[in-house]
Amino acid sequence: MKVDVAIAGGGPAGLAAAIHAARAGLSVALFEREELPRDKACGEGIMPPGLQALERLGARRHLEASDWAPILGIRYLQEDGSALEGRLPGAGGIGVRRTALARVLLDQAKEAGVSVHARTAVRAHGRSKTGMAPGRQRSWWLLTAWPRPCAQRRDWTFLPPGHVAMGCASTSA
Ligand SMILES: Cc1cc2nc3c(=O)[nH]c(=O)nc-3n(C[C@H](O)[C@H](O)[C@H](O)COP(=O)(O)OP(=O)(O)OC[C@H]3O[C@@H](n4cnc5c(N)ncnc54)[C@H](O)[C@@H]3O)c2cc1C
Repeated sequence: MKVDVAIAGGGPAGLAAAIHAARAGLSVALFEREELPRDKACGEGIMPPGLQALERLGARRHLEASDWAPILGIRYLQEDGSALEGRLPGAGGIGVRRTALARVLLDQAKEAGVSVHARTAVRAHGRSKTGMAPGRQRSWWLLTAWPRPCAQRRDWTFLPPGHVAMGCASTSA
């Protein structure tokens, strides 16, 4: 089946993009090579702009009280004891368990109608005006949502609309 938007990567960026796109009325398929919700090493601090983004998504209110704590300011401390500190603007930010953030965003994506494919890595993409072989996802747009710059993948990001097709492979054992 062809969807409007295919998203490669199920981290916060991919899930947030998927939620926005689905709520805008687009059909969305998201592919994540690992399990979802996904944990990863993270300081787990969300600054005020990130918090506003979570609020716009309606995701913040789904966080359990035990999953987060307020961050009112930041303090940098040097080895010689000198320090620099300041308050964050407005209500500040929050520290939130990465697993809780991932779970809430995943729930919101599913609720918005995103077709979620965990343990499915995107291996390649191409363009076609005809039907693709089974097991491939066709879409008008392809969005890559992983942060690491990679020369091989640079041309993947924000492919313009067209007959984009992705080759996907399950990473399940
Ligand atoms: C030690 C550490 C501490 C950090 N602390 C903070 C912090 O306090 N606050 C903060 O805001 N940020 C912090 N960060 C940065 C933050 O974790 C990242 O900026 C954030 O995870 C980026 O989100 P993302 O969705 O762009 O990418 P990611 O979270 O990396 O998600 C990308 C996803 O794409 C998937 N993927 C990759 N290739 C494929 C493929 N071919 N097919 C399918 N899926 C694929 C990956 O498995 C991954 O799940 C920290 C990072 C580190 C390493």
